[in-house]
Amino acid sequence: AKRWARAAAVLRDLEERCAAPPARLRQVADAVAVEMHAGLASDGGSKLGMIISYVDSLPSGQEKGLFYALDLGGTNFRVLRVQLGGKEGRVVKQECQEISIPTRLMTGSSHELFDFIASALAKFVASEGEDFHLPEGRQRELGFTFSFPVKQSSIASGTLIKWTKGFSIDGTVGEDVVAELSRALDRHGLDMNVTALVNDTIGTLAGGRYDDKDVIAAVILGTGTNAAYVERANAIPKWHGLLPKSGDMVINMEWGNFRSSHLPLTEFDQALDAESLNPGEQIYEKLISGMYLGEIVRRVLLKMTEEASLFGDDIPPNLKIPFILTTPHMSMMHHDRSPDLKTVGAKLRDILGIQSTSLKARRLVVAVCDIVAKRGARLAAAGILGILKKLGRDTPGSDKQRTVIAVDGGLYEHYTVFSETLESTLRDMLGEEVSSSVVIKLANDGSGIGAALLAAAHSEYL
Ligand code: ADP
Ligand code: MG
Repeated sequence: AKRWARAAAVLRDLEERCAAPPARLRQVADAVAVEMHAGLASDGGSKLGMIISYVDSLPSGQEKGLFYALDLGGTNFRVLRVQLGGKEGRVVKQECQEISIPTRLMTGSSHELFDFIASALAKFVASEGEDFHLPEGRQRELGFTFSFPVKQSSIASGTLIKWTKGFSIDGTVGEDVVAELSRALDRHGLDMNVTALVNDTIGTLAGGRYDDKDVIAAVILGTGTNAAYVERANAIPKWHGLLPKSGDMVINMEWGNFRSSHLPLTEFDQALDAESLNPGEQIYEKLISGMYLGEIVRRVLLKMTEEASLFGDDIPPNLKIPFILTTPHMSMMHHDRSPDLKTVGAKLRDILGIQSTSLKARRLVVAVCDIVAKRGARLAAAGILGILKKLGRDTPGSDKQRTVIAVDGGLYEHYTVFSETLESTLRDMLGEEVSSSVVIKLANDGSGIGAALLAAAHSEYL
């Protein structure tokens, strides 16, 4: 009995420290808006990179012709081709192929990685069928989605700032990734022009805008988290170039690196950060994204077993292994609706090696998942509210303008409690009137087609 009282105390403490009531979320949203201003004022002026993407026009729907896209940013890369038929024809035909990257290439040489990609792309181009048409005398054009931090220097060039997500390749940091890719395409005899270099948030924004002209921002909630939105170019003090014709500029916020004293951080978050590959960085991402939620839960459960023998007298050895409990596992346990929490029991057995667990212990596990997932979702909602505040769309306007946010990523797509909490929190924060004109839209894999559309929008034949 004492054991349960101690476990319940750990849970109560967790709940208190993870609390993100509306007042706190407003402080977070305000801090996001303030940091957005600071990041737009000067490079290095904020934890938010607020990177100028050089995308000054989003797809209009008039795009026409054959375009390719290449998406690199995780363990898989994807190639895609699309035949665009203009205003009437829209997407006439689309083909996509996903290829996994051999692990050894993620830590090999730049040359090898880009050779592998170019060779796969060359094969894909060779399979182009009758339904796709390239006008006589034209070069194929490609939109390149490269989801690592890049310092852009134009729509089609940018240097890698650092590798993340398990990639570590010598000699690429500081190099122009488009030039690297183009050289590899040449080596494979592929006559193709890299017309646009973007990341997944900007691809999602472009794909979202093509489907719905009221899309003004995109949020990624997957392995990591990030956001991009459309800013007025004259509201970007650090932009010294000519004002674009559209008056707009898409900003890649790199919001995963946001931090603020208002974020509800616990001892578990602090330890996770300290032991991570990038201590002190990506603090917001470490509270929200799919790479980390399961790991936070593991750390809480470990403390519960150490202090309250949650799973008996011995500490299950697997519970000490970092990242063994993934967010998809957590999500499956969290959504267990069986009366005896069968799935929770099975996961605890299969992943953590705990042979038998009481219903009481299983309930506690679900309660931990609930606290951690909802905190992340509520904080993500606060980030979106911050963007709406920056744009002045968080209060009732006179014109009843629609505001659409395109969201992509496995976390949002598959973790129902997370996505529902995010949406209900945003609704509550905005109030009935404003939230009736704010829409969150799942843009499933919009970034691939988005990159192709941006290649079309920035085609050299326009
Ligand atoms: P990436 O962000 O690497 O481009 P995805 O958008 O597909 O890729 O997101 C993958 C991430 O989504 C996984 O790392 C995982 O954290 C999360 N995820 C995938 N499936 C689920 C699920 N069923 N429940 C919760 N999270 C999931
Ligand atoms: Mg992705």
